[in-house]
Amino acid sequence: MREAHPGLPDFDYIRPANLAEASRFLAENPQTARPFMGGTDTFVRLRDGFWKETRYLVDVKNLDGRAEITFDPQNGLTVGAAVSMNQVVADARIRSHYPLLAQAAHRVASYQLRNRATLVGNLCNASPAGDTLGACLLFGGILRVHGVEGFRDQPLASFFQGPGQTALKPGDIVTSIRFPLPAPGSVGHYEKLGRNVLSDLAIVGVTALGHPDSSTASGYRFHLALASVGPVPLVFSDLLTQAPLTPEAVDEAAARAMEATRPIDDVRGSARYRKFMVRNLSRRALTRVWEGLRSGNRCE
Ligand SMILES: Cc1cc2nc3c(=O)[nH]c(=O)nc-3n(C[C@H](O)[C@H](O)[C@H](O)COP(=O)(O)OP(=O)(O)OC[C@H]3O[C@@H](n4cnc5c(N)ncnc54)[C@H](O)[C@@H]3O)c2cc1C
Repeated sequence: MREAHPGLPDFDYIRPANLAEASRFLAENPQTARPFMGGTDTFVRLRDGFWKETRYLVDVKNLDGRAEITFDPQNGLTVGAAVSMNQVVADARIRSHYPLLAQAAHRVASYQLRNRATLVGNLCNASPAGDTLGACLLFGGILRVHGVEGFRDQPLASFFQGPGQTALKPGDIVTSIRFPLPAPGSVGHYEKLGRNVLSDLAIVGVTALGHPDSSTASGYRFHLALASVGPVPLVFSDLLTQAPLTPEAVDEAAARAMEATRPIDDVRGSARYRKFMVRNLSRRALTRVWEGLRSGNRCE
C-alpha cells in the first residue's frame, strides 16, 4: 500500500542568477529539474511521491521584475509571476479594473496559503480545479514565457492540455501574465462549490463575465468558464446574445453548459452531482452578472 504522505525526498535547491541560467539548467535537466514559485503545489507533490524523478528545485521567484503588478489604462494589466494571491486580492488597480480576478484569487485556500501561492503558479500547475483559471481565461490572459530561445507570448486559451499538462517545454519559465483591458462595463462573478467554505479545491467552479453590447439582440454578451468538470477548463463564449434576456434564457444557457460537460467521479463528488451543480451554479453566476450589468456593480 502506498503511504499517503511519504515525506520530502532529498533534493538540491538551485537559485540561478538570471533567467538565461535558469532556462538553461531546466532544459539540460528536463526529467529531474522543476521551476517553482511559492512551492504550495510543488512541495505537496514532492512530499506525496508524485514527482519521483525530481532532483533539483529551481527557485525562479527572485529573478528581476517577477513580483510586480503594473497597470496601464491603454494596454491593461500585467501580473508578475511571483505575485501572490493576497497581492492580487489587495491590489487597488485589480480590484477596480479586474475585480473578478481578485474575487477568484480570494477563493483560493486560506489567507496563510495565499501569502505563498502565486497566480502564475496556479496556472502553471494546471489543475482542472484551479480557482483562478476561469477568470484568467475570460480576461484573455497572455503568458510571457522565457525559454532557451528567449521570450515568447503564450495565450492562455491554448495553454492547458490536461491535468497538470501545459504548453510549457523544458527550460520554459513564465515571467508574467498580461491581460488586455476588459470590455467597457464588464461585470464578473465566480461561484465555487467546495466541501467546505475555506481551503478546499472546487468540486465545481463557475466563472461568468458579461458586458453590454449594443450589437446583440439581448444588449449583452456573456462568457462562462467551468472548472473541475473536465481535464482542462471549459470555456463558453458569446452566450445570450440572440434574444432579449429573460430568466428562461439564462436557464437554457445553464442547461446547455451542463450538457456539454463530461465530469468524472472522484473523492470530492460524483460526476452526476457535478453536472447538476454546473447547471445550478451557471444559472446563479449568469444571473448575478446580469444583475450587476443592470445595477452597474462590477463584481457581483
Ligand atoms: C492546503 C492547500 C489548499 C489549496 N487550496 C486551493 C484552492 O482552494 N484553490 C486553488 O486553486 N488552489 C489551491 N491550492 C493549490 C495552490 O495553492 C495553487 O495552485 C498555487 O496558486 C500555486 O502557486 P505556487 O506559487 O505555490 O506554485 P508552485 O508550487 O511554486 O508551482 C506550481 C507548479 O507550477 C510550476 N511553476 C511555478 N512557477 C512557474 C513558472 N514561473 N514558470 C513555469 N512553471 C512554473 C511548477 O513547476 C509546478 O509544477 C491549495 C494548495 C494547498 C497546499
